[in-house]
Amino acid sequence: MRFLLTNDDGIEAPGLIALAEELEKLGEVLVVAPEREMSGSGHAFTKRWPLRLRRVYRDGKPFGYATSGTPADSVKLGLFLAERKVDWVVSGINDGPNLGIDLFYSGTVSGAIEGAIDGFPAVAFSLAGRSGPRSDPAQARSRFAEAAAIARTLLEGLIEHKPALTRVCLNVNIPDLPREQIKGVRLAVQGLQRYDDRFLRGEDPSGEPFYWPASTLVDEDHREGSDLAASREGWITLTPLKIDLTDHELLERMRRWEWELGLGQRQR
Ligand code: MN
Repeated sequence: MRFLLTNDDGIEAPGLIALAEELEKLGEVLVVAPEREMSGSGHAFTKRWPLRLRRVYRDGKPFGYATSGTPADSVKLGLFLAERKVDWVVSGINDGPNLGIDLFYSGTVSGAIEGAIDGFPAVAFSLAGRSGPRSDPAQARSRFAEAAAIARTLLEGLIEHKPALTRVCLNVNIPDLPREQIKGVRLAVQGLQRYDDRFLRGEDPSGEPFYWPASTLVDEDHREGSDLAASREGWITLTPLKIDLTDHELLERMRRWEWELGLGQRQR
């Protein structure tokens, strides 16, 4: 089994290192991840500039490659380097949840989606909690080690089920709780929370204004069965995501509309 592993927290992130260690128990792991943190980069990719690639060692052993690009770049480049001889594209473990609307912003999820676009079974893992840059590194390591062990177990199950994952990516969020407090796995739909998109306005030392993003959640999704609700309740959430963003139901209804746009024959 060959895994291509990426993330959006950067090649030094404890979540990536912990997951790489667990995946090595299942097979060969090629790590290609952004040099720096790229959280919130979504599905951005590099088009007009060359990417740089740096070999990274851990404890004197080759660990993987750091790229100057995004998570999506890392997967594209990783697949190229591996000559597409990859069985799974895996992304994470992200430091923080990737639930609901946040999937649109998430570099972690986009890393997995890029794998799915390229035709590979793909899964994104996130730790639903946040350690933050000021947390104790030893504590962060142990939290991610526990989550990575859970991720490996889930992946073993997925590999065993041999699901037909064509143009689908799996999104997994593991609650940041001691293992005995995690309720189990819940298959969940994507939640639809909303933020208020506010900014704190201030002035920098040269008198120029700045706008510091300060969004808060204004519309929590309380629907039963959403990834947000299940994660809050202490479940590991698993959501299959489609690459096809078409609203098929609306499309069918629109086919029945009388179109009076004066643009000639409408194409059905
Ligand atoms: Mn991140």
